[in-house]
Amino acid sequence: MKKTSYWLSAALLMSPAITWSQEEVEIKVQQLTEHVYMLEGRGGNIGLSIGDDGVFMIDDQYAPLTPAILEAIGRLTDQPVKFVLNTHWHGDHTGGNENLGKAGAIIIAYDKVRERMSTEQFRKLIGGRTPPAADAALPMVTFNDRISFFMNDDEIQAFHVAPAHTDTDSMIYFSAADVLHTGDVFFNKRFPFIDVDLGGSIDGTIAAANLALEMTTEKTKIIPGHGPLASRQDLMDYRDILLTVRNSVAELIGRNCTLEEVLAEKLTESLDETWSWNFINGDTLVSVIYADLAKNRQPGAE
Ligand SMILES: [Zn+2]
Repeated sequence: MKKTSYWLSAALLMSPAITWSQEEVEIKVQQLTEHVYMLEGRGGNIGLSIGDDGVFMIDDQYAPLTPAILEAIGRLTDQPVKFVLNTHWHGDHTGGNENLGKAGAIIIAYDKVRERMSTEQFRKLIGGRTPPAADAALPMVTFNDRISFFMNDDEIQAFHVAPAHTDTDSMIYFSAADVLHTGDVFFNKRFPFIDVDLGGSIDGTIAAANLALEMTTEKTKIIPGHGPLASRQDLMDYRDILLTVRNSVAELIGRNCTLEEVLAEKLTESLDETWSWNFINGDTLVSVIYADLAKNRQPGAE
């Protein structure tokens, strides 16, 4: 069944267990400011601050890519990776933790990232289990609200946001460089996956996108969790499409429509060509929003 394969692909995307040889993946390096870089490979986008104080890294994709990522960083600096901060617990952002931790980096994340990673996670909707991560992959330092790093002529501020893409999300703002890494709260030019099975929510994602909009100007460079480097306008477009699709789904749920009936409305038809990627097309997004909003509905409250 088509629908089932979306969920299976979703489980695969977020699994740290994906194996492919590093030769297949090219690590693309983009310098954003004097000290800040964005790296793209496979999995979540990496943010870097590089300078005399060492390397500060945001997210680390998949374990098989660590050698290629470290090689790319090695072409930019002789300094070691001092800190790795995870934007959330998903395997496409934390898969390199164990390798980097063993290489001497301190892994840091919001409290609940460690909690989710250290125990088996089960998704009812997707039907997949994520086993606990190895001890060496777990964050050594955790924070419950925010944490700042004073290095490379910048104040790097990481702060937890209320449940959005997951219930473990942080965004990171490089205040001197004026660069924001949103983690998976924001997918640029791509429909997002929202982990509604494990604490994420569409309304939380829209609220987090609004928070990011409040913090940024048209000059701010935005590193999204997935997709190309973004501007504030890109973030606004994303927020707008999420809000439009969310409101349409909510209205149909209010009329007691089943998921099949909502999908038949083809709410995302005009967006599909631009925003579909990988397995996440308009139907996936609508299914996720439907599952999220329908579960919040009081039985018999229509
Ligand atoms: Zn994610």
